[in-house]
Amino acid sequence: MPEKIIAPQDIHLKRQKFVKESTRPLEDQWKETRRFVAGRIEAVEMQRFSARIVAVANGEIAEQAKEKARVDDLIGLLRRGAFVNSVEEYRQMKLPSRAVIIFLDIDNFKVYNDSFGHNVGDEALKKFSQALKQKFGGKAIIGRWGGEEMVVFIPGVNAQEALELFEEQKFNVEFASEIIENKNFNLTVSGGVSELGYNDKLETAVNLADAAMYFKKKHGKNGIVVYE
Ligand code: GH3
Ligand code: MG
Ligand code: MG
Repeated sequence: MPEKIIAPQDIHLKRQKFVKESTRPLEDQWKETRRFVAGRIEAVEMQRFSARIVAVANGEIAEQAKEKARVDDLIGLLRRGAFVNSVEEYRQMKLPSRAVIIFLDIDNFKVYNDSFGHNVGDEALKKFSQALKQKFGGKAIIGRWGGEEMVVFIPGVNAQEALELFEEQKFNVEFASEIIENKNFNLTVSGGVSELGYNDKLETAVNLADAAMYFKKKHGKNGIVVYE
């Protein structure tokens, strides 16, 4: 039910009524009426105010839900779609003349899971993504392409510089050495790098980086190569 605000003319009528009917001192009744009107106006204002708060809260919840949809629950990296959108937005905004895509895939992860269990595998995935974020967080957009595959977009560098950045950041492809149940297992990564020019399609660059990574899988794993 919408709140009813008493119009000034009605207040006037009410005052007239008091004059005619009341035996109480007029001034008292008039004060009471004013208090009543002020109270009603305040109530309506409060209602509007709380409606605004609810609207803001709903907006925030919607924002949080959006953020949750963008980011992978397990490892806290952007999901594939959000990664693509972020990179495209960045490219539109900043127009970098050059950039690279690095496609990374954990080596022998199935064996790792089979040896130590899925939970330990999950922990390794978290460590891997944390390491990526720590090393490249400020310089790159990082996403989970799927499963144990991550993608990194680094603007402002060419392929060679990206490889140097990997070394400079001391990003070790042997990122986790696990000693579990007396078994030592070095987790390693294979990766491929491709360049992404101003007019190049992101999808093509990801495919080329994936192809380079696949080449490394076939040739010993545990390393990063540039697509040529
Ligand atoms: P390769 O060196 O050729 O990449 O071998 P691989 O075993 O890493 O590759 P494969 O594609 O055969 O297996 C990928 C494995 O990654 C299998 C799957 O269970 C595991 N995996 C994918 N996503 C997750 C995850 O979220 N958590 C865990 N624990 N394992 C995952
Ligand atoms: Mg894979
Ligand atoms: Mg793998």
